Amino acid sequence: MTWNTFPLVLEWISEITPTVRHFAFRRADQEPFQYIAGQFINLHWERDGKRTHRSYSVANPPGESEIVEIAMAPVEGGFATGKLLSLEPGDMVEASGPYGRFVLRDDPGCRYLLVATGTGVTPYRSMLPRLRDLLESGDYRVDLLLGVRGPDELLYGTEFREVAEEFENFNFHACYSRRPPESSSAWEVKGYVQARLADLGVDSETDIAYLCGNPGMVDEAAALLKEAGLGIKSIRREKYLSART
Ligand SMILES: Cc1cc2nc3c(=O)[nH]c(=O)nc-3n(C[C@H](O)[C@H](O)[C@H](O)COP(=O)(O)OP(=O)(O)OC[C@H]3O[C@@H](n4cnc5c(N)ncnc54)[C@H](O)[C@@H]3O)c2cc1C
Repeated sequence: MTWNTFPLVLEWISEITPTVRHFAFRRADQEPFQYIAGQFINLHWERDGKRTHRSYSVANPPGESEIVEIAMAPVEGGFATGKLLSLEPGDMVEASGPYGRFVLRDDPGCRYLLVATGTGVTPYRSMLPRLRDLLESGDYRVDLLLGVRGPDELLYGTEFREVAEEFENFNFHACYSRRPPESSSAWEVKGYVQARLADLGVDSETDIAYLCGNPGMVDEAAALLKEAGLGIKSIRREKYLSART
């Protein structure tokens, strides 16, 4: 397959949690990068004389700057995550995209159940300006569920909390699978996102679900939603499958 690639230059990196790095790139060919919130890019490398690539969801909203942000969770011995970890500001990577259909559509008023594990929450961060517009209209509700191991891993948690404080029709649920805080707030729960989803009570008349991240979570949450009566068109999925090359 031939990819229509373009160069990205790394502007800055930050460690947003002990387990996730946030990278900010800029197109080095001066062309605009247009995408829809929720889409991903591919990053390309040579490996043993062959071309290979890995996918990363764009973490920032479109149209706000020329910067393309991603959040990466390092994988021990991982090829691409190792390459990304070795980058320094000014280094170049080859990219292509945007790709994917994990985007908000023109759904009439509804409740969005936005469910993620780890870096799977980045598409929802990119969607925030659009979500704010929908919330302001008063016709939509949003429940955003983020599963991580403990509070220190709650990536972009402060940003989601801010939206929750601003809009009564937006709820943020932090789900800690391993290390819940000793005293937690109402928005923090112990356990998996799937359990929280079940507790929320799914309504097949009003709910549309987005599931992103760990493939096991996506499958389990989808099964739960189907059982609750949600149709296939109301369950939108992005699995962070690892590559085979
Ligand atoms: C559409 C899409 C969007 C994605 N978006 C993101 C994103 O925004 N952020 C992000 O960090 N990743 C994302 N991923 C996953 C990413 O593309 C890579 O698969 C991941 O970074 C690991 O690549 P690697 O080359 O370092 O590991 P590899 O060299 O491919 O794998 C090394 C070993 O680790 C295992 N492995 C791979 N991934 C994981 C994992 N997550 N946990 C445990 N073991 C693993 C593999 O099975 C293999 O045994 C996305 C994937 C898809 C398909």
